Amino acid sequence: MQNFFTYRNGILHAEDIPIPNLAESVGTPFYCYTTAALEYYYRLFQSALAELREVSIHYALKANTNIAVVRTLANLGAGADVVSEGELRLALAAGISPKKIVFSGVGKTPVEISFALQTGILQLNVESEEELGEIHRIAATLNTVAPVSFRVNLDIDAKTHHKITTSRREDKFGIEWLKIPRILRSAVSLPHLHVVGLTTHIGSQITNLQSFRKSFMRMRNLITQLNASGFPIRRVDLGGGLGVLYDSESAEGLPPSPTAYAAVIRETLGDYHCQILLEPGRFIVANAGLLVTRVLYVKEGSNKIFVIVDAAMNDLIRPSLYGAFHAILPIKEPLLDMSRQTVDVVGPICETSDVFAHKRSLTPASPGDLLALDSAGAYGATMASTYNLRRLVPEILVKGDQFSVIRRRPSYKEMFSLESLPPWL
Ligand SMILES: *Cc1c(COP(=O)(O)O)cnc(C)c1O
Repeated sequence: MQNFFTYRNGILHAEDIPIPNLAESVGTPFYCYTTAALEYYYRLFQSALAELREVSIHYALKANTNIAVVRTLANLGAGADVVSEGELRLALAAGISPKKIVFSGVGKTPVEISFALQTGILQLNVESEEELGEIHRIAATLNTVAPVSFRVNLDIDAKTHHKITTSRREDKFGIEWLKIPRILRSAVSLPHLHVVGLTTHIGSQITNLQSFRKSFMRMRNLITQLNASGFPIRRVDLGGGLGVLYDSESAEGLPPSPTAYAAVIRETLGDYHCQILLEPGRFIVANAGLLVTRVLYVKEGSNKIFVIVDAAMNDLIRPSLYGAFHAILPIKEPLLDMSRQTVDVVGPICETSDVFAHKRSLTPASPGDLLALDSAGAYGATMASTYNLRRLVPEILVKGDQFSVIRRRPSYKEMFSLESLPPWL
């Protein structure tokens, strides 16, 4: 795979821009994305699907919701998978047609359902019988017909991190697959529902094709059964979840290529004349972004060295939350013969879990040095918080030799402006 963050003249660049120039412009920490990488990964995914008859890509916004990122993908023809009214509004503002938007999630509120129906989205992925009833009721009051697809819980373990596995029987997602025929039968008689197909999504950062194959086969069996009982299925949404490479040195958990993933779709469902929807998130954006941070202190502990940086778990929570690995790149290119040190790279937050890397072998860092956490384009900025009253960090988008601040750092005044004192204080 191509890399869009490369050393030139000994300095890490994003496309044609030296990272230190960006740090000078917005201060650290900040996220940096590149347009060429977004376009590359989107097109790589798209071209892998070329042999499938009717297929559409609905970028899962929750991986990275910055409007400039979404607009970049929209310009390539991407649709969207959204999980809240906020994401739906952002997708529309970024220029994605409602006819290319699917709405997922186990807990859509009545306001969200109503808003989605009024914008005229492609489909609502329904996760329970109870939600189906609510959608029908709301569609009736709006005097419209709701396009619904049933999200199937396939009772399959995707063999990824347990916090991002979503289609085991005990998970909260989807409708038990055994119940689908009965619910479908009752739904087709309701005047304000139009059942458009089936949906599944088995989890995230999936690195074994076998899990996809098993779940798509189960979808196939379900479709065969429904077709035979007089409910022809014309549209299948297969969700997202394709994993990416985080650790290229050890190549641990090597993900399948999008071509191999597409082959599994073709082999399991290719002969069915269904429209196929896919909802990739991480695959498109993960390797299109860095989190750039500055070293504050190098502290000699009793038996280890701590590199204390100015980014923290509130800016990028994946290491603390999932034990995720992010490669750490020095901005100054290490010389080949440079010695290495085993260090812990940690943030300033008052939590022992505020650690980006344990026992990592890095070239020696000094206060003031810039470092980049690699593969931070997905589930980085979108999962950030203001814990410890730290401000959300800026995001920058690079294109060739240009860059633009696509989210600025708020002032403290702005950050505090939503709070107020009660009259008795
Ligand atoms: C999170 C999510 C996705 C995207 O998953 P990735 O692993 O980022 O590809 C797609 N569909 C649904 C329903 C999701 O919840």
